[in-house]
Amino acid sequence: MLHLKADLHLHSCLSPCAEEDMNPVAVLTRVRQLGYDLIALADHHHGGNVTSFQKKGREIGIRVIPAMEVETVERVHLLCLFDTLEQLQLWQVQVAEALLGGVNPREFYGPQLLVDDEGRITGEVEELLLNPLSFDVFEVVERVKGLGGVVIPAHLDRPGHSLIFHMGMEILKVFPAVEISSHMEPAVVREIYDLNPDQTVLVSSDAHFLAELKAPRVIIHVAEVSVKELELAFRGQDGRWVEVF
Ligand SMILES: [Zn+2]
Ligand SMILES: [Zn+2]
Repeated sequence: MLHLKADLHLHSCLSPCAEEDMNPVAVLTRVRQLGYDLIALADHHHGGNVTSFQKKGREIGIRVIPAMEVETVERVHLLCLFDTLEQLQLWQVQVAEALLGGVNPREFYGPQLLVDDEGRITGEVEELLLNPLSFDVFEVVERVKGLGGVVIPAHLDRPGHSLIFHMGMEILKVFPAVEISSHMEPAVVREIYDLNPDQTVLVSSDAHFLAELKAPRVIIHVAEVSVKELELAFRGQDGRWVEVF
């Protein structure tokens, strides 16, 4: 069994609102110093830096889950986690077609940078990645599941882009895990939102800046890193579980 200190939601310099220093070398070095074993790189609507993070991660001993954060047509933010880069790339094709909007106003948000494993800039995404998709919450869940991934509602406690703010609490029951930001207490959230015992309340950094990376709050106990194992752990089944503190 693996016992992995994890942060399942952080961003790189590809996210328009993130610091330009959020490259694989800087992020993974910091993450290593803080004692993490596992991260999910979840940039907004683009998986273009996952390969570089995985390459650097293999070098310094951090596993990197291919992931993406999307905004639905209801303005809800959802975290999408996958097993493989190929699944993420297939999702990326669907996302690109559904992304509403136009060109990134670079002088306002900053550049959306693609980087290699050493943090060297290799390109820039022109289309603004902060716009919502034309998919609704249910479509995202169905499509991601269809590709073999899992969806987790992001930062429930932030009113602007949270699932409950836009859609109420009943829909929460659909998900094996929900996510809150690091200044909330999981036990309090569980009670307020009336979650089932077989749902996990994850705490993630949602870091866009290096300074937002903090000490681990989550340990995932699984036989291997896969969506199937994560879902078992979120549900507390078959001897897999998640500790959140
Ligand atoms: Zn978000
Ligand atoms: Zn985020």
